[in-house]
Amino acid sequence: MSPTPSVALSARNVTMQFGDFVAVQSVSLDLIAGERRALIGPNGAGKTTLFNVISSRLRPSRGEVHYAGRNMASMTADAICRQGLVRTFQITSIFPRLTVLQNVQAALYSRHGHARWVWQRCGKVDREEALDCLATVGIDRFADEHGANMSYGDQKRLELAIALALKPKVLLLDEPTAGVEAQTRRSLVELIMRLCAEQKLTLLFCEHDMDAVFRIADRITVLHQGQVLAEGTPEDIQSDPRVRSVYLGSSHPAPIGGGGA
Ligand code: ADP
Ligand code: MG
Repeated sequence: MSPTPSVALSARNVTMQFGDFVAVQSVSLDLIAGERRALIGPNGAGKTTLFNVISSRLRPSRGEVHYAGRNMASMTADAICRQGLVRTFQITSIFPRLTVLQNVQAALYSRHGHARWVWQRCGKVDREEALDCLATVGIDRFADEHGANMSYGDQKRLELAIALALKPKVLLLDEPTAGVEAQTRRSLVELIMRLCAEQKLTLLFCEHDMDAVFRIADRITVLHQGQVLAEGTPEDIQSDPRVRSVYLGSSHPAPIGGGGA
Protein backbone atom coordinates (compact mmCIF):
# COMPACT_ATOMS: atom_id res chain seq x y z
CA MET A 1 0.00 0.00 0.00
CA SER A 2 1.38 3.43 -0.87
CA PRO A 3 1.75 5.84 2.07
CA THR A 4 -0.96 8.49 2.52
CA PRO A 5 0.27 11.71 0.94
CA SER A 6 0.84 14.44 3.52
CA VAL A 7 -0.96 17.76 3.20
CA ALA A 8 1.43 20.71 3.37
CA LEU A 9 -1.20 23.41 3.41
CA SER A 10 -4.95 23.31 3.53
CA ALA A 11 -7.50 26.02 2.73
CA ARG A 12 -10.97 25.19 4.02
CA ASN A 13 -14.04 26.99 2.64
CA VAL A 14 -12.20 30.26 2.23
CA THR A 15 -14.35 33.26 1.33
CA MET A 16 -12.91 36.73 0.82
CA GLN A 17 -15.31 39.60 0.51
CA PHE A 18 -14.53 43.24 -0.21
CA GLY A 19 -17.64 45.15 0.84
CA ASP A 20 -20.46 43.43 -1.04
CA PHE A 21 -18.13 41.96 -3.64
CA VAL A 22 -17.17 38.32 -3.15
CA ALA A 23 -13.72 37.86 -4.72
CA VAL A 24 -13.18 34.30 -3.46
CA GLN A 25 -16.10 32.09 -2.55
CA SER A 26 -15.87 29.00 -0.39
CA VAL A 27 -12.64 27.71 -1.88
CA SER A 28 -11.07 24.56 -0.47
CA LEU A 29 -7.65 23.45 -1.59
CA ASP A 30 -5.20 20.90 -0.19
CA LEU A 31 -1.59 21.25 -1.25
CA ILE A 32 0.14 17.89 -1.08
CA ALA A 33 3.76 17.98 0.12
CA GLY A 34 6.11 18.01 -2.86
CA GLU A 35 3.52 18.79 -5.53
CA ARG A 36 3.69 21.61 -8.05
CA ARG A 37 0.21 23.08 -8.25
CA ALA A 38 -0.89 25.72 -10.73
CA LEU A 39 -3.75 28.06 -9.96
CA ILE A 40 -5.21 29.33 -13.21
CA GLY A 41 -8.24 31.33 -14.26
CA PRO A 42 -9.14 34.45 -16.21
CA ASN A 43 -8.18 37.91 -14.96
CA GLY A 44 -10.23 38.79 -11.91
CA ALA A 45 -10.91 35.13 -11.05
CA GLY A 46 -9.56 35.67 -7.53
CA LYS A 47 -6.11 34.07 -7.82
CA THR A 48 -4.11 36.87 -6.21
CA THR A 49 -6.77 37.33 -3.54
CA LEU A 50 -6.56 33.62 -2.69
CA PHE A 51 -2.76 33.94 -2.59
CA ASN A 52 -3.12 36.87 -0.21
CA VAL A 53 -5.31 34.80 2.08
CA ILE A 54 -3.10 31.71 1.88
CA SER A 55 0.01 33.76 2.65
CA SER A 56 -1.82 35.51 5.50
CA ARG A 57 -1.67 38.99 4.00
CA LEU A 58 -5.47 39.02 4.11
CA ARG A 59 -7.62 37.50 6.80
CA PRO A 60 -10.45 35.59 5.12
CA SER A 61 -14.02 36.77 5.68
CA ARG A 62 -14.89 33.13 6.28
CA GLY A 63 -13.00 29.85 6.35
CA GLU A 64 -9.54 28.85 7.53
CA VAL A 65 -6.08 28.09 6.25
CA HIS A 66 -4.01 25.48 8.05
CA TYR A 67 -0.25 25.30 7.73
CA ALA A 68 2.31 23.35 9.72
CA GLY A 69 -0.48 21.85 11.76
CA ARG A 70 -1.88 25.22 12.85
CA ASN A 71 -4.64 27.60 11.90
CA MET A 72 -2.75 30.45 10.28
CA ALA A 73 -5.04 33.00 11.94
CA SER A 74 -3.16 32.21 15.15
CA MET A 75 0.32 32.66 13.62
CA THR A 76 2.30 35.87 13.19
CA ALA A 77 3.74 36.74 9.78
CA ASP A 78 7.22 35.99 11.18
CA ALA A 79 6.18 32.58 12.48
CA ILE A 80 4.61 31.69 9.13
CA CYS A 81 7.77 32.68 7.31
CA ARG A 82 9.99 30.82 9.80
CA GLN A 83 7.88 27.71 9.19
CA GLY A 84 8.82 27.99 5.53
CA LEU A 85 5.76 29.48 3.82
CA VAL A 86 7.22 32.04 1.41
CA ARG A 87 5.68 34.01 -1.45
CA THR A 88 6.57 36.31 -4.32
CA PHE A 89 4.34 38.96 -5.87
CA GLN A 90 2.64 39.50 -9.22
CA ILE A 91 4.37 42.89 -9.45
CA THR A 92 8.07 42.40 -8.75
CA SER A 93 8.77 43.71 -5.28
CA ILE A 94 12.50 44.09 -4.79
CA PHE A 95 14.13 47.12 -3.16
CA PRO A 96 15.38 48.95 -6.26
CA ARG A 97 17.79 51.23 -4.38
CA LEU A 98 19.55 48.42 -2.57
CA THR A 99 22.15 46.35 -4.30
CA VAL A 100 21.16 42.92 -5.50
CA LEU A 101 23.21 41.37 -2.68
CA GLN A 102 21.63 43.66 -0.06
CA ASN A 103 18.17 42.61 -1.22
CA VAL A 104 19.01 39.03 -0.34
CA GLN A 105 20.80 40.04 2.86
CA ALA A 106 17.66 41.87 3.97
CA ALA A 107 15.76 38.59 3.64
CA LEU A 108 18.48 36.76 5.59
CA TYR A 109 18.25 39.37 8.33
CA SER A 110 14.52 38.97 8.56
CA ARG A 111 14.94 35.18 8.72
CA HIS A 112 17.53 35.51 11.44
CA GLY A 113 15.19 37.78 13.38
CA HIS A 114 17.06 41.09 13.14
CA ALA A 115 14.78 44.03 13.75
CA ARG A 116 16.94 46.44 11.73
CA TRP A 117 19.21 46.11 8.78
CA VAL A 118 22.59 46.84 10.27
CA TRP A 119 24.71 46.58 7.19
CA GLN A 120 27.98 47.32 8.96
CA ARG A 121 27.44 44.22 11.07
CA CYS A 122 26.86 42.10 8.02
CA GLY A 123 29.17 39.18 8.62
CA LYS A 124 30.99 37.08 6.09
CA VAL A 125 28.57 34.24 6.60
CA ASP A 126 25.55 36.32 5.57
CA ARG A 127 27.43 37.60 2.57
CA GLU A 128 28.37 34.11 1.52
CA GLU A 129 24.89 32.77 2.09
CA ALA A 130 23.42 35.66 0.08
CA LEU A 131 25.92 35.10 -2.73
CA ASP A 132 25.00 31.44 -2.70
CA CYS A 133 21.32 32.28 -3.20
CA LEU A 134 22.24 34.60 -6.09
CA ALA A 135 24.44 31.93 -7.67
CA THR A 136 21.62 29.39 -7.39
CA VAL A 137 19.41 31.58 -9.60
CA GLY A 138 22.30 32.62 -11.85
CA ILE A 139 22.66 36.35 -11.04
CA ASP A 140 25.65 36.45 -8.67
CA ARG A 141 27.53 38.54 -11.24
CA PHE A 142 25.13 41.41 -10.48
CA ALA A 143 25.66 41.24 -6.69
CA ASP A 144 26.92 44.81 -6.29
CA GLU A 145 24.60 46.47 -8.79
CA HIS A 146 21.30 48.09 -7.94
CA GLY A 147 18.29 45.88 -8.47
CA ALA A 148 16.64 48.56 -10.60
CA ASN A 149 19.47 48.32 -13.17
CA MET A 150 18.75 44.68 -13.96
CA SER A 151 16.43 43.43 -16.68
CA TYR A 152 12.93 42.55 -15.54
CA GLY A 153 13.70 38.86 -16.07
CA ASP A 154 16.72 39.12 -13.76
CA GLN A 155 14.59 40.99 -11.22
CA LYS A 156 12.25 37.98 -11.28
CA ARG A 157 15.32 35.80 -10.58
CA LEU A 158 16.24 38.11 -7.71
CA GLU A 159 12.77 37.63 -6.24
CA LEU A 160 13.39 33.90 -6.33
CA ALA A 161 16.79 34.37 -4.65
CA ILE A 162 15.11 36.43 -1.91
CA ALA A 163 12.52 33.68 -1.49
CA LEU A 164 15.29 31.05 -1.23
CA ALA A 165 17.02 33.09 1.48
CA LEU A 166 13.88 32.58 3.55
CA LYS A 167 14.37 28.79 3.35
CA PRO A 168 10.98 27.93 1.87
CA LYS A 169 9.24 24.62 2.25
CA VAL A 170 6.10 25.83 0.51
CA LEU A 171 6.68 28.46 -2.15
CA LEU A 172 3.86 30.62 -3.53
CA LEU A 173 4.69 32.33 -6.82
CA ASP A 174 2.21 34.87 -8.19
CA GLU A 175 2.81 35.05 -11.94
CA PRO A 176 6.54 34.27 -11.86
CA THR A 177 6.96 34.86 -15.60
CA ALA A 178 4.62 37.82 -16.11
CA GLY A 179 5.98 40.65 -18.21
CA VAL A 180 8.99 38.86 -19.71
CA GLU A 181 9.55 37.78 -23.28
CA ALA A 182 9.30 34.17 -24.42
CA GLN A 183 12.94 33.11 -24.15
CA THR A 184 13.34 34.59 -20.67
CA ARG A 185 10.07 32.95 -19.69
CA ARG A 186 11.39 29.57 -20.76
CA SER A 187 14.57 30.01 -18.73
CA LEU A 188 12.54 31.08 -15.67
CA VAL A 189 10.37 27.99 -16.07
CA GLU A 190 13.50 25.78 -16.15
CA LEU A 191 14.85 27.59 -13.08
CA ILE A 192 11.61 27.08 -11.14
CA MET A 193 11.61 23.38 -12.05
CA ARG A 194 15.22 23.02 -10.92
CA LEU A 195 14.62 24.84 -7.62
CA CYS A 196 11.58 22.68 -6.86
CA ALA A 197 13.60 19.51 -7.45
CA GLU A 198 16.81 20.61 -5.70
CA GLN A 199 15.13 22.13 -2.67
CA LYS A 200 12.23 19.64 -2.48
CA LEU A 201 9.70 22.45 -2.51
CA THR A 202 5.95 22.32 -2.51
CA LEU A 203 4.86 24.87 -5.09
CA LEU A 204 1.66 26.81 -5.67
CA PHE A 205 1.83 29.24 -8.56
CA CYS A 206 -0.50 31.45 -10.59
CA GLU A 207 0.40 31.86 -14.19
CA HIS A 208 -1.25 33.10 -17.38
CA ASP A 209 1.20 31.50 -19.76
CA MET A 210 -0.21 28.06 -20.47
CA ASP A 211 3.05 26.62 -21.77
CA ALA A 212 4.61 27.48 -18.41
CA VAL A 213 1.62 26.03 -16.56
CA PHE A 214 1.71 22.73 -18.41
CA ARG A 215 5.49 22.47 -18.17
CA ILE A 216 5.66 23.05 -14.43
CA ALA A 217 2.41 21.81 -12.88
CA ASP A 218 1.63 18.27 -11.93
CA ARG A 219 -1.82 19.36 -10.77
CA ILE A 220 -4.01 22.33 -11.70
CA THR A 221 -6.82 24.15 -9.92
CA VAL A 222 -9.01 26.39 -12.07
CA LEU A 223 -10.68 29.39 -10.46
CA HIS A 224 -13.58 31.15 -12.12
CA GLN A 225 -15.47 34.05 -10.57
CA GLY A 226 -13.93 33.26 -7.21
CA GLN A 227 -14.88 29.59 -7.16
CA VAL A 228 -13.10 26.36 -7.99
CA LEU A 229 -14.32 25.35 -11.43
CA ALA A 230 -12.14 22.27 -11.81
CA GLU A 231 -9.16 20.51 -10.30
CA GLY A 232 -7.06 17.72 -11.74
CA THR A 233 -4.04 16.63 -13.70
CA PRO A 234 -2.94 18.76 -16.67
CA GLU A 235 -4.57 16.16 -18.95
CA ASP A 236 -7.88 16.35 -17.05
CA ILE A 237 -7.89 20.13 -17.20
CA GLN A 238 -6.91 20.31 -20.84
CA SER A 239 -9.86 18.15 -21.84
CA ASP A 240 -12.42 19.62 -19.42
CA PRO A 241 -15.20 21.26 -21.46
CA ARG A 242 -16.13 23.67 -18.63
CA VAL A 243 -12.56 24.94 -18.48
CA ARG A 244 -12.40 25.28 -22.24
CA SER A 245 -15.59 27.28 -22.35
CA VAL A 246 -14.38 29.67 -19.64
CA TYR A 247 -11.14 30.26 -21.50
CA LEU A 248 -12.63 30.44 -24.95
CA GLY A 249 -15.35 32.75 -23.73
CA SER A 250 -12.94 35.11 -22.01
CA SER A 251 -10.02 37.28 -22.92
CA HIS A 252 -7.88 34.14 -23.39
CA PRO A 253 -8.41 33.23 -27.02
CA ALA A 254 -5.62 30.65 -27.20
CA PRO A 255 -6.57 27.00 -26.70
CA ILE A 256 -5.51 25.64 -23.34
CA GLY A 257 -1.96 24.41 -23.53
CA GLY A 258 -1.35 26.34 -26.70
CA GLY A 259 0.43 29.38 -25.25
CA GLY A 260 -2.24 31.57 -23.64
CA ALA A 261 -2.17 35.29 -22.90
P1 ADP B 1 -6.73 37.56 -10.34
O1 ADP B 1 -5.44 37.55 -9.58
O2 ADP B 1 -7.31 36.21 -10.59
O3 ADP B 1 -6.64 38.35 -11.63
P2 ADP B 1 -7.69 39.17 -8.12
O4 ADP B 1 -7.64 38.25 -6.95
O5 ADP B 1 -6.61 40.18 -8.24
O6 ADP B 1 -7.83 38.32 -9.45
O7 ADP B 1 -9.06 39.93 -8.10
C1 ADP B 1 -10.31 39.27 -7.99
C2 ADP B 1 -11.41 40.30 -7.90
O8 ADP B 1 -11.38 40.93 -6.64
C3 ADP B 1 -11.29 41.41 -8.95
O9 ADP B 1 -12.57 41.74 -9.41
C4 ADP B 1 -10.67 42.54 -8.17
O10 ADP B 1 -11.04 43.79 -8.71
C5 ADP B 1 -11.26 42.33 -6.78
N1 ADP B 1 -10.39 42.81 -5.71
C6 ADP B 1 -9.16 42.37 -5.43
N2 ADP B 1 -8.64 43.00 -4.37
C7 ADP B 1 -9.59 43.89 -3.98
C8 ADP B 1 -9.68 44.86 -2.93
N3 ADP B 1 -8.66 45.03 -2.06
N4 ADP B 1 -10.80 45.60 -2.82
C9 ADP B 1 -11.83 45.40 -3.68
N5 ADP B 1 -11.84 44.51 -4.68
C10 ADP B 1 -10.72 43.76 -4.84
MG1 MG C 1 -3.49 38.22 -10.01
